Amino acid sequence: MTNALSKLLETNDWLMADGATGTNLFNMGLGAGDPPEFWNETETDKIRTLYRGAVDSGSDIFLTNSFGANASRLKLHNAQARAFELSRLAAEIAREIADGAGRPIVVAGSVGPTGDIMQPVGTLSHADAVEMFHETAEGLKAGGADVLWLETISAPEEYRAAAEGFKLAGMPWCGTMSFDTAGRTMMGVTSADMVQLAGGIENAPLAFGANCGTGASDLLRTVLGFAAQGTEMPIIAKGNAGIPKYHDGHIHYDGTPELMADYAVLARDCGARIIGGCCGTMPEHLRAMREALETRPKGDRPTLEKIVQALGPFSSEGDGTGDDTAPKRERRGGRRRG
Ligand SMILES: [Zn+2]
Repeated sequence: MTNALSKLLETNDWLMADGATGTNLFNMGLGAGDPPEFWNETETDKIRTLYRGAVDSGSDIFLTNSFGANASRLKLHNAQARAFELSRLAAEIAREIADGAGRPIVVAGSVGPTGDIMQPVGTLSHADAVEMFHETAEGLKAGGADVLWLETISAPEEYRAAAEGFKLAGMPWCGTMSFDTAGRTMMGVTSADMVQLAGGIENAPLAFGANCGTGASDLLRTVLGFAAQGTEMPIIAKGNAGIPKYHDGHIHYDGTPELMADYAVLARDCGARIIGGCCGTMPEHLRAMREALETRPKGDRPTLEKIVQALGPFSSEGDGTGDDTAPKRERRGGRRRG
């Protein structure tokens, strides 16, 4: 394997990924309903600023502005025919920033969900999903992405369809899911399920993990769940900068750079090798994360209590696997029996 990400993983214990795309672009004036991918063509300098913000803050890997660049999502803006072109542009601008960085930087072509529910529950067929992912993948490849980066996925069917589409494009990839529903994805996938899914796929990802979801605490609980399965695959942690709060009609994330620095170090202690942020994670958060990862020694795998102490409470009692709540239930049951 000679791709840029595998090379960096061979020589580094951990790598830092980037932060938010949406939050950064909203701060630059993107409207709430506007497709960010159009900016790859119309606001190229702002996309350069977004990418440079990650690279200059110490990211080894950054994601392209192509999360919604698939035919299904672009259809909402009557741009379903532009998936390839907008993906290519996203990667081309990224390539330029990465190559000018003066150190090895991985351009990860972001691929988000189609937004459709797959058959038999929904209407999107497997073949159509594969083709949509394939088209986006070809665009990112043509623009010079090193790897593809599937993110915020809820359904295992969609994860598998993406893997198939990426195989058609001959591209290595990473893939994360969003565990935003009491420790599970919206479609019910647990951390343990995901280890099975990622490890069992024919065109296996280079790394897998969790992104977005609820808060930094929940995300680390999920990472502990991955690690508990004893997987050898590199784990990705890309948590939000705190909890989203509605404030004056917009979403604000309450996580400070100090909190994200603690999160980054804890993510590494939990077993993650690729550590970044998601929504709300700005360059100042990334700088604090990089500094903490470089200066603080690796520690033991943290307990759930330690995570709560550092980052705040979980959004739900259990993580959906039963693993965390089982001992407690057993103890209670034991007492009742006794
Ligand atoms: Zn997010």
